[in-house]
Amino acid sequence: MDKDIAIDLLKLIDESFKDKNSKSEILRRDIELLKSGKATYKEVNDLAIEVGQNLSHSINEFVTAKSLPNEKMYFNISNRLMNHTLKNNYDIVTGYASDVQNQLNQVANLHLKAQVPDFNQEKVKGLVERLTAAETFDDIKWILDEPLVTFTQSIVDDSIQKNVEFQAKAGLQPRITRTVVGKPCDWCKNLAGSYSYNKAPDDIYRRHERCRCVVDYNPGDGRKQNVWTKDWK
Ligand SMILES: [Zn+2]
Repeated sequence: MDKDIAIDLLKLIDESFKDKNSKSEILRRDIELLKSGKATYKEVNDLAIEVGQNLSHSINEFVTAKSLPNEKMYFNISNRLMNHTLKNNYDIVTGYASDVQNQLNQVANLHLKAQVPDFNQEKVKGLVERLTAAETFDDIKWILDEPLVTFTQSIVDDSIQKNVEFQAKAGLQPRITRTVVGKPCDWCKNLAGSYSYNKAPDDIYRRHERCRCVVDYNPGDGRKQNVWTKDWK
């Protein structure tokens, strides 16, 4: 009974995940917009939600109470499952985000390189701990749904934060815009708006589960304002 089921599960999940991504209309559109130089952080956010959902669906296809030893999510499995799949999402999202950021920089005539945030190991550790703590798999099954999408979206928010802070240090005056999507809660409504980076609310990069708000940053916006009005609101 010491068979290593994590290896088999990861292989099945990876195949299903790749298949879903290759058939995704949203990803196809995002790649096309990047190629035509029109992608923004809105597309990065769309891509992250899609990749997060595809991952969640693929995991749920194969990780079931029956597929686990004693119907429990042991640390050995949850740790490898989360680190492997979420690192993969991190690579996909940061890859696309830095392509978009480099394009935005170029269009704005900035000779700055896109900055890539670190993989948030603490957040992954938190997910692994919650998965492992439960008595039965059914008690924690939900963690393999929306929290994986929220984690993947946070990679976008981290990318924006990293680039905004970097560009501010380089002497620019970045503006961040947060827009609500769907039926927002009061907390999200309160955060919506366009802010100079040093006046943005502390929670600008934070989100609750199922939050689809779009955080956007375009260095070109700052440049235009700088040239024509020479002042900042
Ligand atoms: Zn929201």
